[in-house]
Amino acid sequence: MVKELLKIFANYTRSLEIFYLLNNLKMAVRLDANQDELAKIKDFCSKNNLFLEISDFKVVKTADRGKGNYANIVKRVSINNANPGLYHLYISRDKNKANFLKILESKNDDRAVGEILGYPECCIDFFTKNRKKQEKIQNDYMLPTLNNSNGFEFPFYTNHAMRYFDITLLSHFPHDFNCKESVNIAKENLRTIKKYSPELAGKFENMLKSAVLYTENDGIFAFKDYKLKDNILEYDEIMPTIKNELFNQLSQNKKIEIISKNKVKIGNKILDDSGFMIFT
Ligand SMILES: [Zn+2]
Repeated sequence: MVKELLKIFANYTRSLEIFYLLNNLKMAVRLDANQDELAKIKDFCSKNNLFLEISDFKVVKTADRGKGNYANIVKRVSINNANPGLYHLYISRDKNKANFLKILESKNDDRAVGEILGYPECCIDFFTKNRKKQEKIQNDYMLPTLNNSNGFEFPFYTNHAMRYFDITLLSHFPHDFNCKESVNIAKENLRTIKKYSPELAGKFENMLKSAVLYTENDGIFAFKDYKLKDNILEYDEIMPTIKNELFNQLSQNKKIEIISKNKVKIGNKILDDSGFMIFT
């Protein structure tokens, strides 16, 4: 089923949103799509009795620095703007919900949008509280979440850092990597994926169980098969969002000293304002 969805929705993140909707884990979803994708998605929705509403605006994305092609910053433009841009799509089995979601988003009512999308109250609070500050940087809530979280070792269910590699079980930013409600949502999602494809569920679980070094502007690096002893992380392989100077240092040193969850040492270089986390 997910394989079929991938043909239309192109990546796991979007395909799984629809998968959750079809399995009644979500009441409504919001996606973005370009003009070409829109035709395919319209067809899919009508065949599956899903209601689709399309935004009256388009969004233009600015790729983040150091995060592959990932874009957290989006700008709204008029539907008649010459820039190709992306439409926001609101999809639900319930026509009113799809419509309501479209109206609420046009009014920038983040709280009500989050509620219809099924986000936990604690995480909606966190999002609205941090929004102004995050909009000025890269609109990525990773460090505020890490700072809210006790320690740096967390359940793999809330590993939202792997979304930079198209792997996540969440549709929202968790307010804390130990957020119980987020863990429950992710567990339920994984359980449902497993029913259809034990193989895909296994792949997700394996990828989410990783150590992650996050930087705002110099890339995100995931480590599999690592060893952590006395705050020294040793590893062989690195998954990077970008192959830059930092990636070269990480590849040469093959170890990181964890001074604190916001401060690490690679060779002689101290990296401040970073985020280090382990998901198990
Ligand atoms: Zn929460």
